[in-house]
Amino acid sequence: MFTEIAKGLYTTLKVLFRPKVTIRYPDEKKQRSARYHGRHELRTYDNGLEMCIGCELCQVACPAAAITVLAAENDPANPHSPGERYGYKYQVDMLRCIFCGLCEEACPTDCLHLTQEFELADYTRESLIYQKDRLVNKLPSSFKVPGNVYPPFDGRKVVVKA
Ligand code: SF4
Ligand code: SF4
Repeated sequence: MFTEIAKGLYTTLKVLFRPKVTIRYPDEKKQRSARYHGRHELRTYDNGLEMCIGCELCQVACPAAAITVLAAENDPANPHSPGERYGYKYQVDMLRCIFCGLCEEACPTDCLHLTQEFELADYTRESLIYQKDRLVNKLPSSFKVPGNVYPPFDGRKVVVKA
């Protein structure tokens, strides 16, 4: 009897001063790796134009059929993106996504980016199907419109339209 109690106390004391492996989530969050695949964002150029050209390569690359892209022609007087087309409709179904990152790799303009954000829980199916209004990042950007887009873009500033 005494031996068992002593054994139990020894085990308790042995682990009592070890560094904790748990954290106080959600007040504390673990550092994620630089290559972590979280929630998607669609980047914009520094002049406000969308980087997405509606090429649909991300949709084709997705093994989970989570992305839907519909492209439309740009109005040359009031374009959404440099080039002929833009992503008129862009939708990511977070319920299907397996966060593999293949869509990001397929994107020819570096528009599509998987961020570090991982807290995506919500209450309805609809709220987990992200549309452009939740995907386009409207924060100031340092990406410049490349000089080889067709038709050439004159460099004017525009307002981001989501
Ligand atoms: S991360 Fe993978 S599964 Fe998710 S949308 Fe991109 S390609 Fe599809
Ligand atoms: S996000 Fe990239 S790959 Fe997808 S449609 Fe837009 S430009 Fe093409």
